[in-house]
Amino acid sequence: MTTFAELGLAPDILRALDEMGYVAPTPIQEQVIPLALQGADILGAAQTGTGKTAAFALPLIQRLLPFANTGTSPAKHPIRALILTPTRELAIQVEEAVQAYTKHVPLRSLVVYGGVSINTQIPILKTGVEILVATPGRLLDHVQNKTLMLNQVNTLVLDEADRMLDMGFMPDLKRIVALLPAQRVNMMFSATFPEEIRKLADSILNQPTFIEVARNETAVNVTQVVHPVHHERKRQLLAHLIMSRDLRQVLVFTGTKLGCNRLANELNKLGIHADAIHGDKTQQERIKALDAFKAGTMRVLVATDVAARGIDIEALPFVVNYDLPHNAEDYVHRIGRTGRAGASGEAISLVSESETRYLKDIEKLIGSDIEVVIVPGFEPGLADVPAYQSPPPRPDRSVERPAERPAERPSAGQRAPHTKPAARDALLDAPYEPGAASPADSTPALVRPAPKKQVAALFRSPVKPDTSGQ
Ligand code: AMP
Repeated sequence: MTTFAELGLAPDILRALDEMGYVAPTPIQEQVIPLALQGADILGAAQTGTGKTAAFALPLIQRLLPFANTGTSPAKHPIRALILTPTRELAIQVEEAVQAYTKHVPLRSLVVYGGVSINTQIPILKTGVEILVATPGRLLDHVQNKTLMLNQVNTLVLDEADRMLDMGFMPDLKRIVALLPAQRVNMMFSATFPEEIRKLADSILNQPTFIEVARNETAVNVTQVVHPVHHERKRQLLAHLIMSRDLRQVLVFTGTKLGCNRLANELNKLGIHADAIHGDKTQQERIKALDAFKAGTMRVLVATDVAARGIDIEALPFVVNYDLPHNAEDYVHRIGRTGRAGASGEAISLVSESETRYLKDIEKLIGSDIEVVIVPGFEPGLADVPAYQSPPPRPDRSVERPAERPAERPSAGQRAPHTKPAARDALLDAPYEPGAASPADSTPALVRPAPKKQVAALFRSPVKPDTSGQ
């Protein structure tokens, strides 16, 4: 096993890593750190969860050690390293990591991002910081305001470059790069490599070394499963899974902001503490929701892809794709939120009939088939039932347990009408009792009937458009 010391890191950095409980470098760290210490340009193919932050931050910090000083003059602390990230959340997390890694060295860092008052950032910038983590738009605001100078930057990092492009930051990136000294070290990380990313890399990096961490290597601890379900019953299936399996710290992805809000509201109505984060939420709201989620006081965080970029919660156990992403690469990003740094995780996808084409794209991209598991009571052919009607008194709940319903899809003639009690979910209909359900005693046996390729066949035709708030 390679150690951080063997990679050539300085004692003060090793001490910080030790205090953080980092025992050994991750594969991306092992490959990037020695090269970056020599000042090579790096193009890294790695998603969140691989340890990529330390991979670029540790050598960057070490290369700034000769400049580290305790002087009070701002002139002694020019910005020497610039780390750009697509979102505020990721920027905050990266800077937190930088702070931890620089605990024992006199290098200053700061994070600047939009959505909050620029005035609070200016006084700190004025005192001088060596390492600046920023989102592109706010960085340019500061450039325009002349509240920072970039003429001494010797290291540029673009983190999650593909997402920056997706979010339309390309013009901002070009403007920023044009403001930097030509002589500098560049590192760019991206989970995916579409054509535009390669072009961006060509224009910014100087003969980079390409370092790739295989997708499988990062996802090795992530169990992936697909639950085919009628689109109208997704909400109920999600609540059922959460309650019957007693899932906690569940990150749920929806395709739209509206769907995101609605789902969080519905879950709360069911007694499952949930909040939503998306682009329309203020920064304060997002931070508050994220903190509650991290602390474990909020059980479910419903997010859109954009809002969830960069969320870093150690050992996030469950990611649910409530809506499958239309872009297969987003799936890779999403499941990268779980099973991090050696912890195991589960990625659960609720797939309605109209989404099977996205599933195919995803399987093609990840190069493997995802296991299909039908949850009894939520067979894909079964349409909606009223979710919030109070149930009739049932002395013996077990008679309506989903597990006891036939697993096969009924024919059209057999299909339960909307209000038929047999189609109700015993767990959902019952008042929520925290901790009442434990995985051992209440999870209905999962049926594993379908060889992979038949997901589409599990759905009833003709296809009904998937319009239930997604
Ligand atoms: P990242 O991929 O940079 O977002 O890192 C994911 C998580 O892994 C973060 O919580 C890091 O603090 C943690 N981490 C990174 N490198 C290591 C390591 N070598 N040992 C243990 N944890 C690590």
